[in-house]
Amino acid sequence: MDHDEGRVPSHEDIECVLLSQADIKGIVKRMGEELAEDYRESNPLFIAILRGAVVFFADLIRAVHCPMQIDFMAVSSYGSAAKSSGVVRILKDLDTPIEGRDIVIVEDILDTGITLNYLIKNLESRGPRSIEIAAFLVKDVPGQRSAVLPRYVGAHVPDAFVVGYGLDYDERYRNLPYLGVLKPEVYS
Ligand code: 5GP
Repeated sequence: MDHDEGRVPSHEDIECVLLSQADIKGIVKRMGEELAEDYRESNPLFIAILRGAVVFFADLIRAVHCPMQIDFMAVSSYGSAAKSSGVVRILKDLDTPIEGRDIVIVEDILDTGITLNYLIKNLESRGPRSIEIAAFLVKDVPGQRSAVLPRYVGAHVPDAFVVGYGLDYDERYRNLPYLGVLKPEVYS
């Protein structure tokens, strides 16, 4: 039975809730419908980028009502936890050949887009038919243009550090069922 989702108490380290469980449900449903419409004929391969995207991915694929397959990749970006350096290491590669396939990369949050830009170049060299990005969040940073343009976007968030719904700080908070802004004193 559905309980009142608005009543989930926010964690003490969260400054404010940006997206409630109900907001997220609506976003996932809308994106699922868009993707099913575009991919209903082509048996796409949905790729989750571990680990941040897994919660969104698990919900999203169940909202895409067309034949599809899934696979996983893990990458690590060298540099500090807060900013991408542009040098990306593949920690876990796909198990599926992607030549001739339609690919949907599912990402948790796009900030500079540097990580995904690298990944797309790598995947393009394997000869897929198409590659598109479904990003749960796009961070709006004044003066910054992302290196890649996602075709499917869940929501735009302000330039703050967000956690929950799969997104972590130092491997914590991934299990929060909503998306919130982390209090700056937690990471400063
Ligand atoms: P980009 O390469 O687009 O600059 O960085 C994207 C990656 O940085 C995301 O996949 C995520 O791991 C991390 N990231 C960027 N902004 C945030 C944020 O506000 N919160 C969390 N938890 N991770 C973020």
